[in-house]
Amino acid sequence: MNNSAKSINRDLKQDDLIVITGAGGFIGGSLTRYFYDLGFTHIRAVDKKPLRNWYQRIPGVENLCLDLSESDACMRAVENAVEVYNLAADMGGMGFIERFRVECMRSSLINIHMLEAAYQAGVNRYFFSSSACVYNTLLQQDPKVRALKESDAYPAMAERGYGWEKLISEMFCQEYWAERHMKTFIARFHNVYGPNGTWDGGREKAPAAICRKVIQAKETGSNEILIWGDGSQTRSFTYIDDCVRGIDMIVHCDELIATPINLGSSELISVEELVSLAEGIGNVKLTHKYDLDAPRGVAGRNSDNSFIKQVLGWEPATLFKEGLTKTYAWIEQQYYKRKAGMRVVEDAW
Ligand code: NAD
Repeated sequence: MNNSAKSINRDLKQDDLIVITGAGGFIGGSLTRYFYDLGFTHIRAVDKKPLRNWYQRIPGVENLCLDLSESDACMRAVENAVEVYNLAADMGGMGFIERFRVECMRSSLINIHMLEAAYQAGVNRYFFSSSACVYNTLLQQDPKVRALKESDAYPAMAERGYGWEKLISEMFCQEYWAERHMKTFIARFHNVYGPNGTWDGGREKAPAAICRKVIQAKETGSNEILIWGDGSQTRSFTYIDDCVRGIDMIVHCDELIATPINLGSSELISVEELVSLAEGIGNVKLTHKYDLDAPRGVAGRNSDNSFIKQVLGWEPATLFKEGLTKTYAWIEQQYYKRKAGMRVVEDAW
């Protein structure tokens, strides 16, 4: 599949200014690294967090600490930008988005101000990071789900709070194209995981949380692991390298202007399988305990990749076991660094 991937035709000079927001976080930080490694020389990374709490700080990149829920900050962030990648959002795993719906919905301030600022600045291309949480939850009530295709967002019954905010922000992007002719691009991410992301503190997602729990159980000798829900929930998980490459491909494909597209793996994994894989990587077998009252989200969710394969001749293809092995190794390193009293970024808020 990856062999037939269309080449990326960027209408972008090596020294054109690329602005990436949420760059102190997981995906924004990795996207900054990605463009830097491709040789782009003029990158501005923006985040609200103090610099010491960014997962990645890349030499030669202009780093700005700005609160993008404010209009003036957005104007400053996008000054002279040719392309804007907006990955800033107040978000986290299921434990966060089920408890803090107001915070999640307030990310609409970021999205509204960023779009207008990008439009005023006359940027060529604008990217918005949407989510599989926009999909109709009524279609996700069985762990053996039918994979979700782009049209399944409507009729709308998105995840409360976070999902609805993403859906309305998608619509803003579509209208900025329809009425004002700014090229906007919208990817619906499906559970992105990998090194350099949140692994502790309350905002982490299932793969990172499970890796950390296995590492901890091994280290303390407790020999047991607490799983949220009954372990039957299914998801597809997208490795970070596929995510950043996918963003680049989507933004530079004019067929996808103002057209939401799935950016996710289609390898369906249950939480129980995720735990077994992490145990295998850690070379340990634990007693499984279940917290049936913990947040668990929808019963099942997978990405239908027909559209991305048709348009880009590509889909995220890193096998979960491969990506999880790298993620586990990184979290283990962070875990022991912290234990040794060294400073690590865990929950950077
Ligand atoms: P993250 O929490 O690691 O990064 C988000 C960053 O946004 C944080 O560093 C945070 O400080 C910053 N931010 C929040 N409010 C801000 C503000 N007012 N001004 C400036 N910066 C602000 O999350 P991530 O996993 O890297 O997610 C990036 C984007 O992708 C988000 O829009 C998220 O909703 C979306 N997304 C992620 C996933 C996933 O699995 N990680 C899935 C679907 C969608």
